[in-house]
Amino acid sequence: MEITIHAVAPERRKDRPKDAELVFGKVFSDHMFLMDYETPQGWSNARIVPYGPLSLDPAAMVLHYGQGIFEGLKAYRGADGRIHLFRPLENMKRFNRSAQRMCMPEVDIHFHLQAIETLVRLDADWVPRSKGASLYIRPTMVASEPHLGVRPATEYLHYVITGPVGAYYPEGFNPVKIYVTDEYVRAVRGGVGEAKTMANYAASLQAQEVAKKKGYTQVLWLDAVERRYVEEVGTMNIFFRLKDELVTPPLSGSILPGVTRDSVIHLAQHWGLTVHERPITIDEVLDAIAMGTMKEIFGTGTAAVISPVGQVCYKDKTYRVGNGGVGEWSQRFYDELTGIQYGDKEDPFGWVH
Ligand code: PMP
Repeated sequence: MEITIHAVAPERRKDRPKDAELVFGKVFSDHMFLMDYETPQGWSNARIVPYGPLSLDPAAMVLHYGQGIFEGLKAYRGADGRIHLFRPLENMKRFNRSAQRMCMPEVDIHFHLQAIETLVRLDADWVPRSKGASLYIRPTMVASEPHLGVRPATEYLHYVITGPVGAYYPEGFNPVKIYVTDEYVRAVRGGVGEAKTMANYAASLQAQEVAKKKGYTQVLWLDAVERRYVEEVGTMNIFFRLKDELVTPPLSGSILPGVTRDSVIHLAQHWGLTVHERPITIDEVLDAIAMGTMKEIFGTGTAAVISPVGQVCYKDKTYRVGNGGVGEWSQRFYDELTGIQYGDKEDPFGWVH
């Protein structure tokens, strides 16, 4: 399929904020990609147009029944000025797995990537030049058919928007304090937790508000049935350095399969570290902290890459992880992954596109 381009007139180009002033998710680039789906014809009308509001019928099914999915990845500018994507096809594949789970049409992964490449090339000026900053890319698909009544829609809109984002840690790594909720759950097995669908984020808000009020940055999610097994932290996957082994919960159906999670596992194995994908209970975590065998805890995700955890609160008791600072392995994974993403380090897995 051809992508038609309606470029924004030069005089209507937006002012780009300075890299140091960037906040996450507030500013968007000049253009966006769109295409439409109709049953049974399939996808058509792939186009890049000036960024702006969508026209959706108020009865559009996504606005009522939440049939919508999205992705999140970044474009990084290397020291040589070239623009890199990091494992983009993994995001395109996850997009299609989310689509399947939500009874939505898939998008050809190579076409999807081509659309993103075309968009990022057109808005190349929007890819920040300062270290740690990047262009965040948000592919989205929503059920656009105007219809009330619960069933999969017959019409969809796929779009991609982008926006420059600043360094996640402008003043260096900052360990987070996390609050374990045994009152709320994010997802259940058999539910939609492993899909990147809007409902999961709506479901997480209340627990996040409670954690924030108590002075914590992120929620640690437990499994929905026994409220014992650790699942994720905020919108990140979670890793434990237990003695000298890396432990992360297995992809049981209620956990989002993170691209960063997969990259950490690959790197760890490449370095000869032992990695276990196995269930781990909150009691095991807290016992290990008490015994001093829990050396590090960190979250993984595209936004922060690695987010060290300095403190855990469970049932109103607080536990300090290690010395509360940044662990050696957290730092090593962070340096290696960001090094590969910006093209400063060798890329042994061919992850950079
Ligand atoms: N879990 C959830 C719920 C998320 O939203 C994300 C962010 N996409 C992740 C984990 C981390 O995934 P990734 O490493 O692919 O960004």
